[in-house]
Amino acid sequence: MKTRTTPLSQASDSEIESAVAHASLPALMMSMIHMSGDASLLDEPVRPKHALMFDMDAGISPEDAAAIRERAVVLIREYLAKGQPPCEPLPAATVERMLTFALAEQDIEPEARGFLLEELSLNGSDPRRVDIDPRAVERRGDAFHVVIIGAGMSGLLLGYRLAQQGIGFTILEKNESVGGTWHENRYPGCRVDIASYSYSYSFEEGEWDHYFGPRSEVQSYFEDFAEQQKLVDRIRFDATVEDARYEEETSEWVISYQQAGSQREIRASVLVSAIGLLNRSKIPDLEGRELFRGPQMHTAQWDDAIDLRNKRVAVVGTGASAFQLVPALADTAERIFVFQRRPSWMFPNPEYHASISGEHQWCLRHLPEYARWFRIVSMWPQFDKAAGDLIMVDPDWDDGGASCSRANRQMRDDLAAYISSQVDDPELLDKIVPDYPPFGTRMLQDNGTWLATLARHDVELVPSGVARLTEDGVVASDGSEFEVDAVVYATGFEVGRLPAIDVAGRNGVRLSQTWGDEPKMHLGLTVPGFPNFFTIVGPNTGVLHSGNLIIVSECQVNYIMDAIRLLVEELDELECRSASADAYHARLSSELDRSIFARVPSYFSNDAGKVVVCMPWKLADYWKWTRRVDLDDFEARRL
Ligand SMILES: Cc1cc2nc3c(=O)[nH]c(=O)nc-3n(C[C@H](O)[C@H](O)[C@H](O)COP(=O)(O)OP(=O)(O)OC[C@H]3O[C@@H](n4cnc5c(N)ncnc54)[C@H](O)[C@@H]3O)c2cc1C
Repeated sequence: MKTRTTPLSQASDSEIESAVAHASLPALMMSMIHMSGDASLLDEPVRPKHALMFDMDAGISPEDAAAIRERAVVLIREYLAKGQPPCEPLPAATVERMLTFALAEQDIEPEARGFLLEELSLNGSDPRRVDIDPRAVERRGDAFHVVIIGAGMSGLLLGYRLAQQGIGFTILEKNESVGGTWHENRYPGCRVDIASYSYSYSFEEGEWDHYFGPRSEVQSYFEDFAEQQKLVDRIRFDATVEDARYEEETSEWVISYQQAGSQREIRASVLVSAIGLLNRSKIPDLEGRELFRGPQMHTAQWDDAIDLRNKRVAVVGTGASAFQLVPALADTAERIFVFQRRPSWMFPNPEYHASISGEHQWCLRHLPEYARWFRIVSMWPQFDKAAGDLIMVDPDWDDGGASCSRANRQMRDDLAAYISSQVDDPELLDKIVPDYPPFGTRMLQDNGTWLATLARHDVELVPSGVARLTEDGVVASDGSEFEVDAVVYATGFEVGRLPAIDVAGRNGVRLSQTWGDEPKMHLGLTVPGFPNFFTIVGPNTGVLHSGNLIIVSECQVNYIMDAIRLLVEELDELECRSASADAYHARLSSELDRSIFARVPSYFSNDAGKVVVCMPWKLADYWKWTRRVDLDDFEARRL
């Protein structure tokens, strides 16, 4: 339910004053420049000292901050008196200066600067839109059709871009609704761990009630987007794709799917898999699962009909889902036993559960370009800061595997100190400080609720995995036994295996044959032998050290749209060259081998020990590589 706010034109003086008192100064100062067209603020001595999303004053002294807020109120009134004219676009050089000023940087590397300027999308611009010659689109007509598998965040995004260009497409979705992850994960406590003002499409930052939206807010965002953009009409729901094959004579894909108990078929000029990385629940194959008399469920298949009130519950796992679930469940269940094979590292984030005040929401919704700048300020602290020293293993660094470099050690010490500062019980402390380096597994966001929950008398952390289930309980790997009424698997997802759809490319060769244990692709987007086929958020495109997955998806959709442009305007077939895929894969493997992801066993790797989930690159570099298709990487054919 979105909070209502008073429109700018009807806001009273006191409303404006109290809203401005809650504004983030870097974003407010940028909005002032847009409203006035006067950039002289950038030359004044008072400037943000750091870009931290929750430090609204950005390190500026209280006196200086108050003075700026006063000036902002005056300026907003003047702007209103002028009738809120559209803000004139500012010269590119001014916007670049504003960027370094707002982010409190001396200089920003060219790739990151380019990326951020594109993300900013000021004055309602949409620089990631890929325009396709409308005459070519008309000439191709219905004969050119794209099929997208999956209506999650990625599939919807591509659908939106295709609709913008008037290109025909169909989305096949196995669920009865859009949203993917956010539709499926209904467990209590589920929310984003990336600021919502940056975990949203670049052209539609959304309106959020929380800084880190709970699952219901995120799901509403995607549902509203699909509805408003009329994407829903293009989706076939309850349609599970089972197979797809490339027909060389026609250069078309033939896709078969199950819908309402019937086998159906659809043909496509281009096939895009947007099936996500995290939607095949992983339930450990425990001995005795069939014996246990109580209910069992995976976090991603949460069943509200299972009443956990006053029940003794075993939660298996302490990764991202358990971290959110256990604090949210603690007041409901009688007792919770949390089975931990390995603790997780967590970042202190006091505002993780915070709602956005009505005053700040007013600024976000009504002050010109304020939300765009707040988005960048929210994104920057998590963008590419860990790429390099924090995740790459220094071969000369040895502290027994506790860290991988000097920078990583420093982070370890800081995070361990944060954990220790919250715990008085030495026995509990012993169980919760990880013995592996930060970034070795997914880093979590914490506002103190996790450790406060573990310290409760009715919650017990068992530092052991689960060995087996009995009729009425759980036996831990260390032999200890626990009587419980229900078991919840917070055990994550099958990510190491091949995607659920094992398509057949040229000569009927299957993706599984081509990939084996090591998916070889160019940019994680395209595979030799599989013409006119692309994947979004496929192997080795997850980001665990930078940005968020929507940024990756936008990069990939941009690239796919450029390929579609070529196919609509001048070509019939684009097939990635083996040399390009091999070269990219060689670089990827060598970089991953030197990274922390290859050293710590985690779900980032498959059974063969290959890291298949994440990329090691700076996201700004990946953005640059995916801006345009390089035809040298493809065999391009006209039939
Ligand atoms: C609990 C959770 C929290 C997360 N939090 C964050 C976060 O804070 N920040 C972040 O950056 N990332 C986060 N992620 C990761 C990522 O952002 C999300 O998974 C995101 O939803 C990915 O979008 P997607 O469209 O690529 O995949 P999905 O959301 O998984 O959507 C894929 C869609 O494809 C459909 N599909 C799959 N197979 C078939 C088939 N055979 N036939 C038809 N349809 C099919 C699925 O039903 C689904 O709707 C989180 C993931 C999870 C699970």
